[in-house]
Amino acid sequence: MEYAQQILSRLAKVQGRNSRKKRFVDSVPCAFCRGSGEDPKYGNASRCSVCGASGKLKVTPPVVTCLKCRGSGREGSGMTCLSCKGRGVASVSKDAGTCVKCLGTGKDGVFYCTPCKGQGIV
Ligand SMILES: [Zn+2]
Ligand SMILES: [Zn+2]
Ligand SMILES: [Zn+2]
Repeated sequence: MEYAQQILSRLAKVQGRNSRKKRFVDSVPCAFCRGSGEDPKYGNASRCSVCGASGKLKVTPPVVTCLKCRGSGREGSGMTCLSCKGRGVASVSKDAGTCVKCLGTGKDGVFYCTPCKGQGIV
């Protein structure tokens, strides 16, 4: 009984994740510095290490918002997100769908899911 409930809640999550929209853009504002080009931690003395101070990032469309950092480009501690490398988005293939290995959670136990690189979508 408990198991069935787990499956149900998992499926609900997957359906929610399916609504993650693919965006067909070839550049995005840098998530890590929010487009300012400055390192958010060290201010204008340092260039943002993610975009190299341009405030913009070239991406290969389509892209989806990074599942791990939810598009912020950073982890809780202020470090660059390991999954998207601070970009806040991840490139996916045109016909990408929910990852069958992790069912869209992006997680494989305590690690991130390898086939989808933690994005839950491949
Ligand atoms: Zn930046
Ligand atoms: Zn990320
Ligand atoms: Zn996966």
